[in-house]
Amino acid sequence: MSGGSSGAGVVVVGGGQAGFSVVSTLRNAGYEAPVTVLAEERHLPYQRPPLSKKLHTEPEDIRAGLVPESFYRERNIDLRLGDDATAIDTAARTVSTRTGARVPYDHLVLATGARNRPLPVPGAELDGVHALRSIPDALTIGRALAAARDVVVVGGGFIGLELAQVAVTHGARVTVVELADRLLSRAVSPQLQEHLRERHERGGVRILTSTAVRSIEGAGRVREVVTDQGVLPADLVVYGIGAAPRDELARDAGLAVDDGVVVDAHLRSVTDPRVSAVGDCARHPHPHAHGLVRLESVQNATDQGALVGRRIAGSPAPYESLPWFWSDQGAVKLQIAGLRASTDEVHMVPGDSPERLAAYAFRDDRLVAVETLNWPAEHLAARRLLERRVPVRTADLVGSTLGALARARRTSEVRT
Ligand code: ADP
Repeated sequence: MSGGSSGAGVVVVGGGQAGFSVVSTLRNAGYEAPVTVLAEERHLPYQRPPLSKKLHTEPEDIRAGLVPESFYRERNIDLRLGDDATAIDTAARTVSTRTGARVPYDHLVLATGARNRPLPVPGAELDGVHALRSIPDALTIGRALAAARDVVVVGGGFIGLELAQVAVTHGARVTVVELADRLLSRAVSPQLQEHLRERHERGGVRILTSTAVRSIEGAGRVREVVTDQGVLPADLVVYGIGAAPRDELARDAGLAVDDGVVVDAHLRSVTDPRVSAVGDCARHPHPHAHGLVRLESVQNATDQGALVGRRIAGSPAPYESLPWFWSDQGAVKLQIAGLRASTDEVHMVPGDSPERLAAYAFRDDRLVAVETLNWPAEHLAARRLLERRVPVRTADLVGSTLGALARARRTSEVRT
């Protein structure tokens, strides 16, 4: 047992990808004290990305589970599904749960994730208006989509564009309504935004940017969406307009929060080092970012969970993993490596086949992020070079690719 521990072990709040990563890492690293997961959802921990990438109408369609129930049993992980944490007492080091339990801890890990921002318009409560986060949401949307003719997607971000492609593939007429003047304004460079818009439009999705939803109309069930650019018929509305971190437990316990639980480079709460936060709910320093960031991605959830698991098991290290993301939008596989800032200089370069493309972002003539379409090899080369902090300048990419640079580098490493 490590110094200062009472033997109470670790309590993880949240049974998503980040929570799973914490507990599996703890046991893999030989941690032997009690490990408890308080999970609000009734499903075994699962991955969310598959939910928005195809139509799901039956529970068996969903292949999202991370590991079977036996994994937790065999490793003596006390996974309490449907028993979410309701309060933290940092002085007593206990967590209260919905069923009235008080669970003691040596280390508490918050892996509470994020919740969808609600659609702030009249009519958002009508039948046929949905957001996607959980397995039940995916089934509701999938079943509605199977029968829908006119689908309105509110929000042209990752989730919205993925769902728009799923809907159009199933023969629906699809309109994306985006408030900003561009698609994916948070996620990708302006150059790629334009290009992706063209691809979606060519694929049959109608896109309205700079358009606000005023209301959703219908008698009990959605019939139409009223926007400031006109009225759209709809028998299904799905919205993906961003998410907010679930940091209220931390805030109520007196821990610092600022659009996420504020943590240090080791992902410990800046208020109480016995509490860590990982995944979508954590706001943290990162060597690739200016100031603190909060990242919503599988990579971030997995790597942060593993880092905290290893630290509690005795191997501390600061969090420095290279951020990466992906989104499958119909025939387009978008991948991002690194963190781009709005002031970076972006060079868009066609790939070696028509559907491939890369956008390289430079800061002070040094490569900081790479966005690729349908070009997994270039994405992986980008990750490898950025992870190792190999300096790449604009001139290095004239007539070349990161794949070629990485290969040349490996050859020269072998020679020297
Ligand atoms: P998500 O993970 O939900 O896809 P993103 O941040 O990637 O989140 O995308 C959300 C998109 O929704 C952004 O493009 C944002 O401009 C857009 N958006 C936000 N609020 C509204 C709104 N009220 N109506 C339409 N689009 C919106």
